[in-house]
Amino acid sequence: MENLRIVILGRQGSGKGTQCLRLGESYGVIHISTGDMLRAAVESQTELGQKAKAIMDAGDLVSDEIINAIVAQRIGMNDVSENGFILDGYPRTASQAQALEEELLVKGLKLDLAINLEVPVSEVTQRMLDRSRADDTEEAIRRRLEIYENETTPLLEWFEDRNNLVVVSGLGPEDEVFSRLKGVIDGITSEN
Ligand code: AMP
Repeated sequence: MENLRIVILGRQGSGKGTQCLRLGESYGVIHISTGDMLRAAVESQTELGQKAKAIMDAGDLVSDEIINAIVAQRIGMNDVSENGFILDGYPRTASQAQALEEELLVKGLKLDLAINLEVPVSEVTQRMLDRSRADDTEEAIRRRLEIYENETTPLLEWFEDRNNLVVVSGLGPEDEVFSRLKGVIDGITSEN
């Protein structure tokens, strides 16, 4: 089978970051987390980081233009062309989904799968409060979840229309969720 190209959707606090790391290692694909890339930029105080910091602290979304450019550049790198990717935290808006589709199209590629790692709002809120990350104030959490429902939930239909969407429950122990995800990915790789 050719390289895997996967998108993982899920509310903040759904555990998708952890699962994506494990899946990246397990399948030998590159884990691309836009949140991690932005946090690294903030940390090293690059121009991007300086622009993004206040937006991230407020729980808002960095502009599509900026984020699309970062992802397009990352997807064009050799390690990603050679190994495939698992995208974590992108796309988050209709415009980002469109940009990703076009970016892949010009490379003659397409997505293999979009997974929605489903965890209810009440559960993710509790998990985020428990992990107490610097940008996890109650107000920012509420704001991020609201934006997710408004901007990102419509993408489920977008991927469903393209026959790419599979929903996986993110409830239960980490290892069980990991097995569920692997089951779904192994299912599509054995079809090809
Ligand atoms: P995350 O770790 O994915 O929750 O991302 C942390 C923060 O980075 C988000 O709350 C946004 O401010 C920003 N961010 C990450 N990915 C994106 C994206 N695809 N579009 C816009 N903003 C993003």
